[in-house]
Amino acid sequence: IVVLSNSFSGKGLAPRVAVKLKAGLADGAVELPKIDGGKFEIKKTAFSGKAFAITELTSPNKIIALNPNAFGVKENPTDAVIENFAADIKQSDLGTVIKDIVRATDKVSLPDAELVVSAGRGLKGPENWGMIEELAGLLGAATACSKPVSDADWRPHSEHVGQTGIAISPNLYIAIGISGAIQHLAGVSSSKVIVVINKDPEAPFFKVADYGIVGDAFEVVPKLIEALKAHKG
Ligand SMILES: Cc1cc2nc3c(=O)[nH]c(=O)nc-3n(C[C@H](O)[C@H](O)[C@H](O)COP(=O)(O)OP(=O)(O)OC[C@H]3O[C@@H](n4cnc5c(N)ncnc54)[C@H](O)[C@@H]3O)c2cc1C
Repeated sequence: IVVLSNSFSGKGLAPRVAVKLKAGLADGAVELPKIDGGKFEIKKTAFSGKAFAITELTSPNKIIALNPNAFGVKENPTDAVIENFAADIKQSDLGTVIKDIVRATDKVSLPDAELVVSAGRGLKGPENWGMIEELAGLLGAATACSKPVSDADWRPHSEHVGQTGIAISPNLYIAIGISGAIQHLAGVSSSKVIVVINKDPEAPFFKVADYGIVGDAFEVVPKLIEALKAHKG
């Protein structure tokens, strides 16, 4: 049994490993398997995260790709002793050669981001994304957007989250001026903590929010930025 993370890279890796090992694959798993007699059952997300499916893996080799945040942090006290280890590795021992080094930008990559600041049509136009980027920069978060925003070329398509975009499960998802349509929620509802900022108290997003602020984004976001700057000193 191989357990992988169902992260951006895990989603690419798991099916390839499954083919190589002739293994059954359960991706998007939300629990570790129930093994009952000869049965090996696993709970996983289905229909873009709107439902769960119980899948049985019958092959001898099995791959489980676990969704990020499917498990909370568990402390496991141990008396492990730390020892110094001097590895004697020569260049010739390595099976890879560095051909090129691409400098990372200071932008956080969306698929694996722990914190995401996302905005929708409520922002009115691309010229208003300065405050979204500033908020994301202060938090060390990636930026995301709803589909109509990327369709209108206000933001790049790589930021579009939801059923037809990227599915993400960050620790914190801040949704600003996004209504919370079911297709949007399909890609973000497994986020650990959801904060919604919307001027309409009836916006559907509030139903799945852990924290909600009913207010105008153009007033709330600058105040958040100010408070974060004060907090950081
Ligand atoms: C087949 C299909 C697939 C789709 N896939 C996706 C997908 O993957 N991802 C996705 O996002 N959508 C997807 N959609 C579109 C989806 O149905 C919604 O139309 C879309 O998510 C709405 O985007 P929005 O919330 O940014 O805009 P709107 O629905 O226009 O909502 C804007 C929100 O901003 C609020 N607002 C306005 N002004 C302010 C302000 N000043 N301050 C604070 N709040 C304000 C409003 O109250 C409103 O709730 C899909 C649709 C279909 C049919």
